[in-house]
Amino acid sequence: MRTYYDILLTDRTIAKRELEGEAIVKAGRYLIAKTLLELGAATVDPLSPQNPLIFSAGPFAGTSFSNANRTSVGCKSPLTGGVKEANGGGTFSYGLGQQKIAGFTLLGASKNWVVIHFKKDGGIEFDDAGPYMGKGNFEANDMLHARYGKKVTIALCGPVGEYEGLLGGIAFSDKDGRPARLAARGGVGAVMGAKKVKAIVVDLDKIPPFHDPKKVNTGIKEYAKMLQADGMVQNFYAKIGTMGMADVQNQMGGLPVRNFSAGRLADLSAGETFKMGGDYIGQLNTGRGGEQTHACMPGCVIQCSNVYHDASGKEVVSPVEYETLGLLGTNCGIADPDDLAQLNYLANDLGVDTIELGAMLAVLMEAGLGAFGDVKFMADCLVEIRKGTEKGRLWAQGTARVGEHYKVARVPVIKKQAISAYDPRVVEATGISMMATAQGADHTAGNLPRLKTREMDLEALVSQSLLHQTRVAANDSLGLCIFGMSVTNPNTEWLANTINAAHGTSMTPAFFEAHGSPAADQPRGALPRSRRAQDVRAPARVTMGLVLWVAAALAGVIHVLFFCMESLWWTRPAVYRRFRSTAARAEATKSLALNQGFYNLFLAAGVFIGLALTETGHYRAGIILVAWNCLSMLAAAVVLALSSPGMMRGAIIQGLPPLVFLAGTLYLRSS
Ligand code: SF4
Repeated sequence: MRTYYDILLTDRTIAKRELEGEAIVKAGRYLIAKTLLELGAATVDPLSPQNPLIFSAGPFAGTSFSNANRTSVGCKSPLTGGVKEANGGGTFSYGLGQQKIAGFTLLGASKNWVVIHFKKDGGIEFDDAGPYMGKGNFEANDMLHARYGKKVTIALCGPVGEYEGLLGGIAFSDKDGRPARLAARGGVGAVMGAKKVKAIVVDLDKIPPFHDPKKVNTGIKEYAKMLQADGMVQNFYAKIGTMGMADVQNQMGGLPVRNFSAGRLADLSAGETFKMGGDYIGQLNTGRGGEQTHACMPGCVIQCSNVYHDASGKEVVSPVEYETLGLLGTNCGIADPDDLAQLNYLANDLGVDTIELGAMLAVLMEAGLGAFGDVKFMADCLVEIRKGTEKGRLWAQGTARVGEHYKVARVPVIKKQAISAYDPRVVEATGISMMATAQGADHTAGNLPRLKTREMDLEALVSQSLLHQTRVAANDSLGLCIFGMSVTNPNTEWLANTINAAHGTSMTPAFFEAHGSPAADQPRGALPRSRRAQDVRAPARVTMGLVLWVAAALAGVIHVLFFCMESLWWTRPAVYRRFRSTAARAEATKSLALNQGFYNLFLAAGVFIGLALTETGHYRAGIILVAWNCLSMLAAAVVLALSSPGMMRGAIIQGLPPLVFLAGTLYLRSS
């Protein structure tokens, strides 16, 4: 049994719901999507008391089940205007789970700033937040630990969230007590600030009871073994951590560099050294005594996190993640990881989303307010944001609004949220996820950075993206960190059995995608109508792709018919009359028509072979072949129309389908 609380901040009344079985399993991201949809989040002002703020833990929270203690935070995003689920690692859900709490919804808004304290005796208290106001996250965190003790875990609204700056995230304690694991995206910290909740403190207790604790233990051990045997986990996440993705993207050309104006910072083939990736930083950091593998929560076997040390061996920040390296680093022209680490610490002290912050700063640089790579300019901007000056508050509204204010042409956002460090022009399937999800440009909604997109057609990319969004949502809903997906996704039977052991349910493996699908899809329904149109853009492109395919095929069929008429049936009265000819002339031009018919047959063959190539994974070559043949058909139709105006009808029949194909293809490429 787990408890779910609805806390009305306005009068501090608390309603308690006891959850059992499947209801516990569905209390994560699934419940967030469902609750926000039911409460009509689409119509509320995101910074008003009417916007609910939901915190939820997965069904294994409170245990050392590897990477299963993530916290999902949901609300209507003040940044995007859509439904947001931002999740973070650390120990907050570990604490909730230990108190047998599945989650809670904060409703209304408090009159005065409060700290909510979940006590291990089951009580919930509202304490004065006055002493912590305006403090940086590290100082506030120390003060809260001094007041509530070491055996607590904390969710913190930073100084930017306090003034409802949309860069604001919610910082959770990591395993060592740093307020450094953020539910960062979408302005969830601003929503917490709008509710005047400065911090939520949860007492740590003990491992919660389960239906069959022995089997749960076995499941935990089996999972650890599977993770230890998994290539992706061991060779990438556990070895280099997420910063290894910087090396991958630098190679692929998908790394954001100087406001997304380039995709590669260093050309390794030309002998340049790339200092902003895992290969370089890993060696540097471990040489200084830093930790290149580190768990953000108890029990995580993957340990993708790190603790970055400076040249004197002193801790600077934890963790340096790929997203921060990309957006706050290379996207702002930073090429030295020591500079990035200092900025990362300052951003963590403000409790802000480093993706949105980095993209916004690069837009300021593009607007001419500072130079790319100017670390002092960036630190000065952070001071303005920290103080909440007029400029600082403007900049804290995020990339889209800042870009609009300074009338910058290149503003890398989707649905008003900064594009994360997977340039959708290169990492195309992730770009589709960003367009199709209600979350905005959030790669975590469905990231596919290793997919060979250039060898796939658009329909295949869209279906891969939608499937991946569903699986990510399923993992999120279970409180599982997605870096374990290479094990959880193919082992749904083991997962179902372990959940059944934990909560006495009778899940089958099919529960997994059934669980993820509504969590991924429902938020699209909770979007305001005006924004839903953007969401259907990717599927609309698929429909258009189908129309173009039919147009090309029709062009081919028409040209086969021309072949038949010219090469096979030329002397038949019904045919030569159609070409405004006579029996004598048809007989005289028989060999010419035979030859011309074959030209048409070869054009049609080119179209059909091209279409076949697009269907067998050779999309680019196929499209080029179809386009060339359609262009030839169109040109021939124009020549026919100009040289024989009496044959205009035939010219239109011959030229219209290839024209539709060519115009539609050009439109899709440019949009
Ligand atoms: S894999 Fe990394 S982010 Fe995920 S839970 Fe483990 S340490 Fe945290």
